[in-house]
Amino acid sequence: MNKFNVALINMCTEVEGPYKRLCIWFQGCDRNCKNCCNVDFQKKIKKNIMIDQEIIEIVKQSIKNYAIEGITLSGGEPLLQIGLPNLLRQFKELNLGIILFTGEKYENIPIDIISYCDIIIDGEFNEKVIDNQRALIGSQNQRLIFVSDRYIKDKDWFFNPILKEEININTKFYFNGDKL
Ligand code: SF4
Repeated sequence: MNKFNVALINMCTEVEGPYKRLCIWFQGCDRNCKNCCNVDFQKKIKKNIMIDQEIIEIVKQSIKNYAIEGITLSGGEPLLQIGLPNLLRQFKELNLGIILFTGEKYENIPIDIISYCDIIIDGEFNEKVIDNQRALIGSQNQRLIFVSDRYIKDKDWFFNPILKEEININTKFYFNGDKL
């Protein structure tokens, strides 16, 4: 059993990657990117401490209620969650596509994490080189790496993005997506 420090879960979004996805934002990041877009999730404080079975139950609900195709992991820094490989393995057993955001460079990511991912968006956010061409991606230095071929057919989603913004009014009210 692993514990995860979860800042927020959106059970169904269409702005965090192709298709309907569940998105998890983990709490805590060691980096200090200037003008980090998720500054509330930077601090290494306890938010919602969840065990993997609790997260998997929410994911199963999301499959049942929304027919999600995959999961996006963001933060904060997902790689700080010690149990991440085991959680990714359980997502894969549910045949979900996995998109991982990380401030770490791809070359430094452990293989037991890479092997479960379909897309990795790597590198720190650099406000001096804002990326206006690709959906989801904050700065030009961040690489969009297709680890598997699952989303190759969906490249246009990233490179010819249709700007979308969602307003979620569930337990919490927040905006999500690229700015219009
Ligand atoms: S790596 Fe991501 S979460 Fe961490 S400070 Fe940079 S932009 Fe923010």
